[in-house]
Amino acid sequence: MPVLPICLLFALPLAAQHAPGNDFLHRGRMKADMQFLAGDGMRGRLTGSAEYNLAADWIESRFARIGLEPASGSSFFHRFDLVLSRLAPGNALEIGSGDSRRQGRLREDFYPLIFSPTARAAAPVKFLGYGIEAPHLDWNDYAAPQSVHGAIVLIFDGEPGANDPKSRFDGVVSSESSNPIRKVLWAQSHGADGVLVVNPSHQENSRDSFPSAARSIWPDQPPHLERFTLATYANRIRIPVAQISPALAEMLLGKPLAALRTEAEAGPWKTPLRAAHSATMHIALERKIVEDRNVVGLIRGTDPALKDEAVIVSGHYDHNGATAEQIFNGADDNASGAIATIEIAEAYMQAAAKGQKPKRTVIFASWGSEERCCGPLLGAWAWVEDQVWPLAKTVAVLNMDMIGRSEEVPPGGGSRFNGLAPQTAAQNANNVNLIGTSYSPDLSKAAGEANLFDLGLLRRYDNSRSNHLRRSDQWPFLNRGVPALWFHTGLHPDYHTPYDRPERIDYAKMERIARLVHQLSWNLANAPSRPKMAQPRVIPQE
Ligand SMILES: [Zn+2]
Repeated sequence: MPVLPICLLFALPLAAQHAPGNDFLHRGRMKADMQFLAGDGMRGRLTGSAEYNLAADWIESRFARIGLEPASGSSFFHRFDLVLSRLAPGNALEIGSGDSRRQGRLREDFYPLIFSPTARAAAPVKFLGYGIEAPHLDWNDYAAPQSVHGAIVLIFDGEPGANDPKSRFDGVVSSESSNPIRKVLWAQSHGADGVLVVNPSHQENSRDSFPSAARSIWPDQPPHLERFTLATYANRIRIPVAQISPALAEMLLGKPLAALRTEAEAGPWKTPLRAAHSATMHIALERKIVEDRNVVGLIRGTDPALKDEAVIVSGHYDHNGATAEQIFNGADDNASGAIATIEIAEAYMQAAAKGQKPKRTVIFASWGSEERCCGPLLGAWAWVEDQVWPLAKTVAVLNMDMIGRSEEVPPGGGSRFNGLAPQTAAQNANNVNLIGTSYSPDLSKAAGEANLFDLGLLRRYDNSRSNHLRRSDQWPFLNRGVPALWFHTGLHPDYHTPYDRPERIDYAKMERIARLVHQLSWNLANAPSRPKMAQPRVIPQE
């Protein structure tokens, strides 16, 4: 042991505040893991690929080797199914009856939504604004006594106040209320026979035209990145669902959409509006089931009263695969978070071997299919739906997604940086974004107290047009009332390109962030009380 200079001796009591095992965390091991998990051999870990499955097997092996306990019975795998749909012959949409009948053209006037079942409906059409039933937000488009039972419901895509930072629907973030799956489930629960969705902002003769949107959802050839639905959602929907063009919606309603939009923005829809014509839908999709897995282990808490409560430390392991020419290695996104999860787990087991165990249980989760549409975060949603560990007993979620770089937003960076101010990597060299802090000031404060590592903690992007709040696996937990944070060093020009590679990772910074997450998880696991959710949440102005 070298002789310590005087100043470091004075620093020792501070170092002693580190959680047991914290000093174990090391950039060298994480770099070695990175070379494998984000190496070319893993070919970008695309959902459904052999390499993706291998990545999950490798993480399982790591969890077993360091001595974690499996979280799903005797298995480290939490299994869930995805649905992959293809257009089948026979899709049809007919407007009106008798002499005034018109056949909609597939991909020109209508297309099935990917989660629709194969089903038929023939019924009058009733328009209902945005079709949102969110009484907790004081908004219910289904409040009128006039029923949509036995009708095909026609609704707008999206949500009211989408560009209003003060909107009750999560400010400028697209809220969960705008999720078309939720909207269809609301319509179905009110007895609707089918759902038609229209996006009034589709412009004719533009890149944003309805036919180009239709072709991006249903291209002629299977796309490199497939679109999936979580089977647990797809299986609940029994009625046909299609998107229609604004032109067809106007024909159906016999009215321009602009006035209806103004009315739908102004407040909850008052009375279902009976359209001028009825409709006949026949949606035909072939479904394939793709088996998927989260990899989840835990260290059991020691306190008899607290061990049934858990803190989750997580990071998704999937990325965007490879083409014949390019590999999307996904080093920062998100081998960094998946590897830090393993490293933190090992730090816990190192401390446990010396008799230092947490009072609450700590769960280590590698989520699958975070990147995969629609909507993403499929593995984390599956966990939340299945409640493998009850959400009511989940104290907090600390999610790491992209913790290996420094945020860099070039001026005029384009749509991928939508809503973010230009900034350089040098400016952010010491910074990490904390997203989700507005949901739990308690958790935000605890993160500050755990920052013994001199990182700049930026509490931003909870109300950003970039939609950060919903773009990683903390979201399903926040949505269900569990305090959760996303640790994120930020977007950069290599994001989702073949240049997101292991040699571009800042391992010293990644180690400090992993130490912060470890420290915070330990503090939460041992604290006398748990962080609370803000009631009501104050949506920050950004
Ligand atoms: Zn990611």
